[in-house]
Amino acid sequence: MTRAPDEADVIVVGLGIHGTAAAASLARRGRRVVALERFAPGHARGSSHGHTRMIRRAYPNPAWNEFVDRAFAGWAALEAEAGRRLVHRTGGLYAHRGAARLQGPECVVVDDPGALARRMPGFVVPDGCQAVYDPAAGVLEAAQAIAALRRAAVARGADLRHGVHVRGWEPAASGVRVATDDGVLTASRLVIAAGSWSGRLVPSLAPSLDVWRILTLTVAAGQPAGLPPNLGAFSVDRPEGLVFGLPDAGGHGVKIGVDAGPSWDPEEPPAPATPSEIDELRELLAGYVPGLDTTPVEATACLYTMTEDRRFVIGPLAGAPEVVVAAACSGHGFKFGPAVGEAVADLCDGVPRPDLDFVSTARRGL
Ligand SMILES: Cc1cc2nc3c(=O)[nH]c(=O)nc-3n(C[C@H](O)[C@H](O)[C@H](O)COP(=O)(O)OP(=O)(O)OC[C@H]3O[C@@H](n4cnc5c(N)ncnc54)[C@H](O)[C@@H]3O)c2cc1C
Repeated sequence: MTRAPDEADVIVVGLGIHGTAAAASLARRGRRVVALERFAPGHARGSSHGHTRMIRRAYPNPAWNEFVDRAFAGWAALEAEAGRRLVHRTGGLYAHRGAARLQGPECVVVDDPGALARRMPGFVVPDGCQAVYDPAAGVLEAAQAIAALRRAAVARGADLRHGVHVRGWEPAASGVRVATDDGVLTASRLVIAAGSWSGRLVPSLAPSLDVWRILTLTVAAGQPAGLPPNLGAFSVDRPEGLVFGLPDAGGHGVKIGVDAGPSWDPEEPPAPATPSEIDELRELLAGYVPGLDTTPVEATACLYTMTEDRRFVIGPLAGAPEVVVAAACSGHGFKFGPAVGEAVADLCDGVPRPDLDFVSTARRGL
């Protein structure tokens, strides 16, 4: 990449987990990065806020396995750099009816009720369900992780600017011109990691995306019923929406949510949970993890950016190869943060990543 005196090498739009990880990876490679975020650090308008996220190796298709490996390796490297634990390994049980839909290294199907109870005594697997057990699953310290990536980027010279709204971009002779509320910037490459707003900056992507409002409920930490090894990460695959749960690792309390919600315009802040929505989550939690006091200490609303097949959209745009998109993480993208950051940096550098064909822009004709 050539560098003109007043240009960035790369402009990153969005400082959720993926834009922050991309900024860190690019800065580690010596690229001059300017990252633009319209809201304040830690804001609650997108998808990356909150203390915790689930991490797991259990995925529906072996196509994911290498990317999952890269994610686990990336978190281990960040833990070493940050000097603190970011991943609590608790094991995970993923309950389903019929044939198992998840696989992965060391994952096993557990169908005997006694064996299920031994794996995770605190989790009541619904009658008629089996479960996939993933020993590597656990809880990510999400807020700490994003803070560590931010520090890694800034320490290597990345310029992270909050309160700057990107209005549009266009190809320019030397790369890309980006229009913001704060003026026009140019760079050799543009990374669009705009989460639920990605379709606004890449209109050809918009028809593939649906934005959902999602709720989670967290209960008081320190309750024996919610602590590993009594409880690990879990999910229950139900027709009306997959229920996911996190144990009380790292002192953050047990968290529960449902992978379903109404379509939402991201320009509107996600509406807070209503009392009846909170009651519904409490009832689910009481059923799956008996013995917990389900009085909420936190109920959070945030956004999922969904594709129809739940696969991400990562890659350059065919009509503008200097623009790399990292989007549509369909409710399960946080765990891939460092792997997405490295992928974006490779793609900006022109390094082929055929391992990402299964989530590429090209497979969607973009
Ligand atoms: C309730 C909930 C639970 C989840 N649980 C898990 C889990 O257990 N495990 C897991 O792996 N994943 C989970 N996910 C999914 C994961 O959190 C998301 O996939 C991930 O956070 C998406 O990050 P992002 O950076 O793509 O988007 P975002 O975090 O939304 O970041 C995009 C950023 O771009 C900014 N932006 C957009 N447009 C502009 C613009 N024009 N100008 C400037 N800035 C702009 C936005 O303000 C935003 O900050 C969960 C998500 C939710 C909501």
